[in-house]
Amino acid sequence: MKSMPIARIAVGAPLRSLFDYAIPPGAQPAPGARVAVSFGRAKAVGVVVELLGETDCPHDRLKPLSRVIDPEPLLADDDLAFLRWVADYYHHPIGEVVLTALPRRLRSAVATLEAGEPMWELTDAGRAFLQSSAGRAPRQREILDWLQRQTAHIAPQQQLKSIFSGSHAVFKTLCDKGLIASGMRLAATPLAIDSDDGHELNAEQAKAYESVAGKLGEFAVALLDGVTGSGKTEVYLQLATAVLASGKSVLVLVPEISLTPQLYERFRQRLGDTVQMTHSAMTDNEREHAWHRARLGLSRVLLGTRSSIFTPIADLGLVIVDEEHDPSFKQTEGFRYSARDLAIVRGQRAQCPVVLGSATPSLESLRNVQADRYRHLRLDQRAGNAQPPRIDLLDVRDQPLQCGVSAPLLERVDAVLARGEQVMLFLNRRGYAPVLTCFSCGWLSDCPRCDARQTVHRASGLLWCHHCGAQRRVPSVCPECGEDDLHPLGQGTEQLEGYLAERYAQYPLIRVDRDATARKGSLDALLQRLHDADAAILVGTQMLAKGHHFPRVTLVGVLDADGGLYSADFRSTERMAQLLIQVAGRAGRGDRPGQVLIQTRFPEHPLLQTLVRHGYRAFAEQALQERQSASMPPYSHQALLRAEASRRDAAETFLAEVAAWASQVASSEVALWGPVPAPMARRAGKHRVHLLLQAAQRNALHAVLRALPEFAAGLPVAKRVRWHLDIDPIDLY
Ligand code: ADP
Ligand code: ZN
Ligand code: ZN
Repeated sequence: MKSMPIARIAVGAPLRSLFDYAIPPGAQPAPGARVAVSFGRAKAVGVVVELLGETDCPHDRLKPLSRVIDPEPLLADDDLAFLRWVADYYHHPIGEVVLTALPRRLRSAVATLEAGEPMWELTDAGRAFLQSSAGRAPRQREILDWLQRQTAHIAPQQQLKSIFSGSHAVFKTLCDKGLIASGMRLAATPLAIDSDDGHELNAEQAKAYESVAGKLGEFAVALLDGVTGSGKTEVYLQLATAVLASGKSVLVLVPEISLTPQLYERFRQRLGDTVQMTHSAMTDNEREHAWHRARLGLSRVLLGTRSSIFTPIADLGLVIVDEEHDPSFKQTEGFRYSARDLAIVRGQRAQCPVVLGSATPSLESLRNVQADRYRHLRLDQRAGNAQPPRIDLLDVRDQPLQCGVSAPLLERVDAVLARGEQVMLFLNRRGYAPVLTCFSCGWLSDCPRCDARQTVHRASGLLWCHHCGAQRRVPSVCPECGEDDLHPLGQGTEQLEGYLAERYAQYPLIRVDRDATARKGSLDALLQRLHDADAAILVGTQMLAKGHHFPRVTLVGVLDADGGLYSADFRSTERMAQLLIQVAGRAGRGDRPGQVLIQTRFPEHPLLQTLVRHGYRAFAEQALQERQSASMPPYSHQALLRAEASRRDAAETFLAEVAAWASQVASSEVALWGPVPAPMARRAGKHRVHLLLQAAQRNALHAVLRALPEFAAGLPVAKRVRWHLDIDPIDLY
């Protein structure tokens, strides 16, 4: 066999192997560069993973690659090795994994953008305008004025957009009039840290800081377990400062887009414009710029949501995962990875510390502390003057409720508002009411396509399924019996807002949920209104629980704590506890103490009792014991094979055949449960069936999983079924 140069390529296609292509004369693809190839009859983009002299594929069947797209590699050898590890662990097609690691624009055969960062600069015309036009065009002036206060009158577009969110048209006007000019900047300006900006760490913070900062350059995982407001972010900032001073870079993962701009501003204020953010609400171009800057070391701190875990980062020296318990670190569609778990892997590969921070750590992480794999750093005191909130249960079994709110809670609300303080009411259900019913015949607003009800949305006049999106107009008479006797049952945030608006007409009222904040930037605007107000009411879903800082809120009411207490999913109590504590953490973060009232019909429930009397840690210990005695995660490992089909028997047959095969090939340690119908057995018109695989040891489980996709795909019935494998699933939905 004559030796010829061959490139082994991860092709962007749902196939599990790498593919070999001949390198045409003159072409010089480097590992980590993109290439265009023909794949079957289609064209595809792939990434070179290795260069080889030989291949098993007969030479005459070997196609040449069509074109080298990138003259320089985009991914370094270590990035490629990481991605191959990831594909292997999640049993996911390598090409899809590698392309996921690229910014969306680069998943097609286009040239890369310039690596710099788009900036806006105040022009001479802009300066003249500021001098001459007092009083006119206030919004434009505000932006120009802000720019004038920046060093060199220049700032990243991304920062301006985040500060003046919703001003897209104003920026365009300013550009068109030549008052600002856009340009590119390559390197960030050298770090100028003003050490006075930081707080002097308290004793607990200092201990946590030392414990990580003392071991930079080594892999170690620390769980920063600090109550809300205890100054975790301050610890992150000072650690990041130390890492930057050592010439290395920092990756910060946050769960929510809505939180990114806040944290970004805080990092940016302290560490300067070497801080870069990236999240899914940015345009593809913006995200690609951010990606190149991180990869080339032009920015040194990358702050982003889940998918930024795949960004190549020059000289990675620290990984921080904020709110590590948050389920949104797990991708739940397509390529289902856990960014939190992968953060550990990246830290290990880069030989750097990893800090997982939370006020309500996941049971997984607490288990790792128990097993001495993670260090436990605790911050038990709130930083500054803030006091911990008081949490009480409010038994509502014999209480008449007004739109879901009990009289004692309403009295507290009255009192707090009268004192000029703010109230937050938390109801984890958006819409007007979770179901519409007919009192004459008992008709319910079932979703035609799911085992679920359609929610009433009054403002839009729709019945709307939150699972599949199916919508119809709210009928005026019962679709079943024709009577004019339809009534909403239960409450959602929309209804609660209406009720409170009437009762407390004199106070500002703000609703925060996915419907109210669907427009980009509108959440920021809402929160700004709250910061400027005295007495005010805030109503919302779990969006409210996520990290926002409301210094004037002194009362938090939780209206429906009972939903998570009796659920089919073994993780629901953990979620419930985290949510309650996170919501409670929004109260009293300023100087005045906060109070949390949880309405419940199950005041004796052991979870609620433990949580309220002894706090989250006591709850977590109890929950861990339960998991251990039931051999549930984190004391075992799971993979979930989900199948869905138009006919239930197809999905069942498929999983039964996989189960029969698995029970043959798997070691006896691997337990197989199923096929069983999914908790929501029908969704979007498809029947859904599950097969759960579980083992005490990861190795035993992964040994079966490795062969599973190929076996499953080869089954004749697989053609009638859509299926996927979810490794370490976080919900069994
Ligand atoms: P967390 O991230 O744990 O919720 P933050 O870092 O946001 O807490 O801190 C909460 C508040 O306390 C912030 O306003 C912060 O500026 C302040 N703070 C943090 N550390 C200190 C400190 N050592 N001394 C005084 N105030 C502090
Ligand atoms: Zn009816
Ligand atoms: Zn539906």
